[in-house]
Amino acid sequence: MIDLRSDTVTRPSAGMLAAMTSAPLGDDVYGEDPTVNQLEETVAGLLGHEAGLFTTTGSLANLLGVQALVPRGGELLCEASAHVVRAELGGHAAVSGVTTRTWSAPAGQIDLEQIRALIAPDLGPYFVTTSAVSVENTHNFGGGAIQHGYDALADELESRGIPLHLDGARLWNAAVATGRTLASYGVRATAASVCLSKGLGAPVGSVLVGSTELIREARIWRKRLGAGWRQAGVLAAAGLYALDHNFDRLAEDHANARLVAEVLADAAPGSVKPDQVDTNIVIADLSVTGKTVAEVVSVARAEGLLVGGVGATQLRVVTHLDASAADCRTAAEILARLLGA
Ligand SMILES: *Cc1c(COP(=O)(O)O)cnc(C)c1O
Repeated sequence: MIDLRSDTVTRPSAGMLAAMTSAPLGDDVYGEDPTVNQLEETVAGLLGHEAGLFTTTGSLANLLGVQALVPRGGELLCEASAHVVRAELGGHAAVSGVTTRTWSAPAGQIDLEQIRALIAPDLGPYFVTTSAVSVENTHNFGGGAIQHGYDALADELESRGIPLHLDGARLWNAAVATGRTLASYGVRATAASVCLSKGLGAPVGSVLVGSTELIREARIWRKRLGAGWRQAGVLAAAGLYALDHNFDRLAEDHANARLVAEVLADAAPGSVKPDQVDTNIVIADLSVTGKTVAEVVSVARAEGLLVGGVGATQLRVVTHLDASAADCRTAAEILARLLGA
């Protein structure tokens, strides 16, 4: 089976497993796991922040990061298809009492005019006040799109004293694709999360970064939510290994995604624009083919290819380190046959 449903499906390599089994360990609730501490310091440093917190998932890192910026009943602005409002099961509302309003833009892009119009200043006890704005870079349901206008938004928010939250689950991909440093993105945000278990190929884990004070509070909340852990260095070691070995190679995933997009664009003109595939995610609009995602997913499965959807007609293909260029070419040919027929 070639599995291109997500970049979360990767398995730890032999080298990564070796790093995990030889990692020095301690009790992280006591702050004594040296491998966890090393991972937290490393990621904080890469993103230009004082401190980091290792978490089970990106959803938890986002929950803790947003909660640090938005008080109960306060408001977070984000794009309408952002992971924080679409794929975290309402956690920010259910756990932290956060309300949201959204802007909509193609590929989930930052739209400064819409955001300016949404920002609600503090009008006293009559209207909810905007406490923070969240940006997802790259944007998952936006097809792995690099977010343009990130610095302009950061400048605007800075001038208004509104903190920026960065959902950087795939910030690695944005950095590799643009040649920008991770820190150039990270320093503009008051709180930022990154996933180790997406393109970097670690089995588990995300890191939240922020100021020492923000992370101290987030660490308390992580424990309160039952997500404190002990010898988590076995997992942190996978993250450190991933940073050392699997960062630069993300460019291969981007090239493979572009190849898939080109084959699909030939087979089903109008379904995808290859030059808009910025990173490792291809979203093909099947409405031009008259086929549904459910049909294509099921026939592809029978042919040995797993793909997914982000809507009735939006097929999603995600490249990653466990899918070679040859696998991606085979996958593209299977899909081309299904879409073109
Ligand atoms: C995957 C992802 C997350 C976190 O997902 P978990 O499954 O909770 O680790 C957050 N944001 C984006 C954009 C993602 O793609």
